[in-house]
Amino acid sequence: MEYIFSPEATPAVPVKGSTALFPVRRIYCVGHNYGDHVREMGGDPKQQSPVFFSKPANAIVINNQAVAYPQATSNLHYEVELVVALASGGKDIGTEESLSCVFGYAVGIDLTKRDLQAAARKQGRPWDIAKGFDQSAPISSIITVIEASSPEQTRIALEVNGEIRQDASTAEMIWKVPEIICELSKFYELKAGDLIFTGTPSGVAAVKVGDHLKASIDNIGELEVNIV
Ligand code: MN
Repeated sequence: MEYIFSPEATPAVPVKGSTALFPVRRIYCVGHNYGDHVREMGGDPKQQSPVFFSKPANAIVINNQAVAYPQATSNLHYEVELVVALASGGKDIGTEESLSCVFGYAVGIDLTKRDLQAAARKQGRPWDIAKGFDQSAPISSIITVIEASSPEQTRIALEVNGEIRQDASTAEMIWKVPEIICELSKFYELKAGDLIFTGTPSGVAAVKVGDHLKASIDNIGELEVNIV
């Protein structure tokens, strides 16, 4: 059997120190995973547990590629995040075995149409149009677990036009990586190729056309994006 038209190529992310690419299957995201960010959004981290949402796999943008300022927003926000890339998965994964599913880590930016998200929150509607739009998931190359040192005890930062806007430690995450994998696998069968954006610290704000974003996580990598 042949397809009625050619399917799009599988979205893929470069792997540091390799010519092979990491094929992306799904993109899961965690919201409300840093207390300071929950507070800046007007919430209380004690009352709001982390939340899951997702983005389409073809929303990824590779390092140094431009992002076109998207339609239907006038308040596009950056959110720097540690990204976990899975080499295997399963359902109802235990905390003990969860880290053995991890292929590597990357730096990501969860681009968000904050105006649409605020409206959705108010009306109790889903976040899809605010979070899962085209080019909403810029990501650095992936560093393998063997080369990544202490991804959960390191500096996470984002600069806009050379000015530091987000500056925190991944140690501040409310749900740690093993817990995120366990929780997510209670709802979805995780598989090789899945990416998990693990939430952002405080300091989020709007960007405009012409802005240059530089996201970094020490010992993991750097990600640069131009908004055009
Ligand atoms: Mn986020």
